Amino acid sequence: MSALARSLRASTNVSRVAAARTQARAFSVSAARKDWDFTTVEKPGSLYNFTDEENLLRETVRKYATEVIEPKVREMDESEVMDKDVIQGLFDNGLMGIETPEQYDGAGMSFTSAIIAVEEIARVDPSVAVLVDVHNTLVNTVFRHHASDAVKEKWLPGLATNKVGSFCLTEPGAGSDAFSLQTTAKLDPSGDFYLLNGTKMWISNSGEAETFLVFANVDPSKGYKGISAFVISKDMGVEIAKKEQKLGIRASSTCVLNFDNIKIPKENVVGEIGKGYKYAIEILNEGRIGIAAQMIGLAQGAFDKAITYAYQRKQFGKAVGDFQGMGFQFAEVATEIEAAKLITYNAARLKEEGRNFTKEAAMAKYYASTVAMKAAGQAIEWCGGIGFTRDTGIEKYWRDSKIGAIYEGTNNIQLETIAKHLKKQYA
Ligand SMILES: Cc1cc2nc3c(=O)[nH]c(=O)nc-3n(C[C@H](O)[C@H](O)[C@H](O)COP(=O)(O)OP(=O)(O)OC[C@H]3O[C@@H](n4cnc5c(N)ncnc54)[C@H](O)[C@@H]3O)c2cc1C
Repeated sequence: MSALARSLRASTNVSRVAAARTQARAFSVSAARKDWDFTTVEKPGSLYNFTDEENLLRETVRKYATEVIEPKVREMDESEVMDKDVIQGLFDNGLMGIETPEQYDGAGMSFTSAIIAVEEIARVDPSVAVLVDVHNTLVNTVFRHHASDAVKEKWLPGLATNKVGSFCLTEPGAGSDAFSLQTTAKLDPSGDFYLLNGTKMWISNSGEAETFLVFANVDPSKGYKGISAFVISKDMGVEIAKKEQKLGIRASSTCVLNFDNIKIPKENVVGEIGKGYKYAIEILNEGRIGIAAQMIGLAQGAFDKAITYAYQRKQFGKAVGDFQGMGFQFAEVATEIEAAKLITYNAARLKEEGRNFTKEAAMAKYYASTVAMKAAGQAIEWCGGIGFTRDTGIEKYWRDSKIGAIYEGTNNIQLETIAKHLKKQYA
């Protein structure tokens, strides 16, 4: 059992946890029974409904982020390197296998728990948050949903305890049009292994990763229907060709990877051959809720820092936060952050309930990233000149916010998804 799971159990009354588990099960996919009537509930509640376990996780992650990550944020950003102890701490606290079942050394918690963890870490450092997000909501989830028991047995425990994972889909010529990818995995005539060749680009976590989930085409003549998922380890021959120098989330490694005739045993196929595009579409829908969580955490982190400063900083004989012109701006941004949280939590619950969530996930990512850019930009202005320096860390939130509109589908792609759903509904 992970340290986080142990500490959750130790610090919580057993019956409360049991109640929380029962409530959590009500939100699990298995609870999405066909006879469930989604239109009526006996006692409707507010949208802020978390289980005891989820609330406890939030407290624990907030403490870890503030005490352990925060003192290292500036150094990690300036050096563009993720601190090894921070990564180890994420493993030690069970934050790298949040939804992974306990039988594979994970914490066995809900999807919303993963969302909460990403949000709380992003309040302090969106770079660390994306490492946790990609590892949990993309890499681990593809294994959990699609891998055979043997593949899960072999790879999930490492991912939960000591091996960072990367999700390798994008290529130099395949960004928004992800399934035009050129990387191939050709089956050897012996039938025993595939030969992997190609280049991936913009791969998060790849500077630290030891486990790579790679999408490659086994038969380009079949187009996207040849795309399949494979798992490989770094020592099989993954070459880190270039580490990008970025505007924001600079401590998160983003690299170009080369695969040159890597022999992949056929046991390393994840799921079914030819189903890779389906897995990628499905997982990116889910992953978008994770990026929305990163963005609401970022927005809240920038807001908290800036508003605290504004109530301390005095001009014209009073705190600058006390001017009505400032208060109205705080109120507007606080309202937008609240709305972004609700749309994000709701998308997470829809997913857990087994209901349609594609449109809502796209809306959550689009809206939360827009709010994050605004909140972080306003936060700089509320602090005046000091907000523009690197001393306060507020300018970093603004730099980091820009990525929310780009990865896991740009904002245009989110709008396209939302528009497609609207057309289905109205046209
Ligand atoms: C820091 C970072 C980390 C990343 N991490 C990962 C990762 O871990 N794994 C991974 O596989 N990928 C990752 N990516 C890749 C990311 O998902 C892509 O960058 C993103 O999907 C956009 O692709 P692109 O950069 O090629 O932009 P392009 O597709 O070239 O888009 C350029 C512009 O054209 C617009 N556009 C494109 N198509 C349309 C359309 N149909 N309608 C309207 N507008 C359109 C876009 O909105 C954008 O404004 C990462 C990227 C970055 C920057």
